[in-house]
Amino acid sequence: MKRKGRVVNNYSSFDVVFKSGKGALLTDAGGKTYIDFVAGIAVNALGHGYAPLVKAIRRQAQKAIHVCNYYHSDTGVEYADRLLRASGMEGVFFGNSGAEANEAALKLARKYGWLSTHRDSAPPSVLARNTVVTLEKSFHGRTLATLTATGQPVFHPDYFAPYPAGFRTIRPGNYDDLKTLDETVCAVMVEGVQGEGGVHPLDPDWAHACQKAAHECGALFMMDEVQTGMGRTGSLFAFQALGLTPDVVTLAKGIAGGVPMGACLFRGRAADVFSPGDHQSTFGGNPLACAAALAVLDTLEKPGFLARVAETGDRMRREIRSWNLPCIKDVRGMGLMTGVDLDGSGGNAAAVQQSCLLAAPKGLCICTAGEFTLRLVPPLNISDRQIDEGLAVLRRVLAG
Ligand SMILES: *Cc1c(COP(=O)(O)O)cnc(C)c1O
Repeated sequence: MKRKGRVVNNYSSFDVVFKSGKGALLTDAGGKTYIDFVAGIAVNALGHGYAPLVKAIRRQAQKAIHVCNYYHSDTGVEYADRLLRASGMEGVFFGNSGAEANEAALKLARKYGWLSTHRDSAPPSVLARNTVVTLEKSFHGRTLATLTATGQPVFHPDYFAPYPAGFRTIRPGNYDDLKTLDETVCAVMVEGVQGEGGVHPLDPDWAHACQKAAHECGALFMMDEVQTGMGRTGSLFAFQALGLTPDVVTLAKGIAGGVPMGACLFRGRAADVFSPGDHQSTFGGNPLACAAALAVLDTLEKPGFLARVAETGDRMRREIRSWNLPCIKDVRGMGLMTGVDLDGSGGNAAAVQQSCLLAAPKGLCICTAGEFTLRLVPPLNISDRQIDEGLAVLRRVLAG
């Protein structure tokens, strides 16, 4: 069946029309089944049609879908409390996407920098503290500010210029670059595992040195956990696995199991930066999204759930390595976030992605992250059997 209608032509989409999903399986309009190693790009954290999530959304829809931020909702208050308890953070702003969560973090960082140079009757000679430092190969979103924060030149075409000022990048893993952090820096923002940039886990020692350097120069240390957060890496948050204590953490993607939602969490020196009116979002934190997010968090907090995510991811990577296929250069990741580097001899990542989709009788949905990297981010509750079935398709395709 051909794609009908007109959706803005910003996505290079495949000619597949999905009709429904169940767990880690998707069915297209022609009745063909696909194993889902994409999960809506790490969004459908609990797969499709997950009963407790569906029930929570249905019940909340009957109570109240939206109440606006003049007021609180019981569901919103409950979710904020639960999320803060789970993360150890002190405050939260809710938005509707990863980019929006990061915009909030960037605005918070700028105000933090402004306060630190204008408060305490700083002499006028003090340099403005307004530079946000991010990492090469990072990805932070598609709005102008988050695009500028994104450390990949391919995302910065001339035709979107001028880009906002006050951003620069350093190289992940590079200790010399940490020495360039100075009193002009208001925040350093990193991903625990760079997702769109090719599934590159941050070196834990360097991550700690980076956090320390940020704090020593008086800047905030912020983690973009839009992709790594909410159990994806086998811990609720990557910062917990890495033993880091970020001042600001951003979330989105899997947070509400597919209902659009983003969150910017803050604590300590970042906790009291925003005042009423500084930042808002009409839809942000509406009770429907919060009800969905509560259902997701309930499941992630079940005993053994996250340990299984970690083990399943390790098993997947062991299995792929055991194929010893010459076209595979590297396999890496954390939890159910796996990157597979190809040497290109059997085609680039997009070609493999296409062949997996066309495989029969069952297709396989996979993501790419750069020209030669496959990215596998299945639902966190995918069964062992579906993992094996999906990997069998991938192996067949890669073996040619
Ligand atoms: C996907 C992603 C974003 C952007 O999220 P949107 O919801 O598409 O705005 C930001 N940061 C990271 C790390 C991401 O993976």
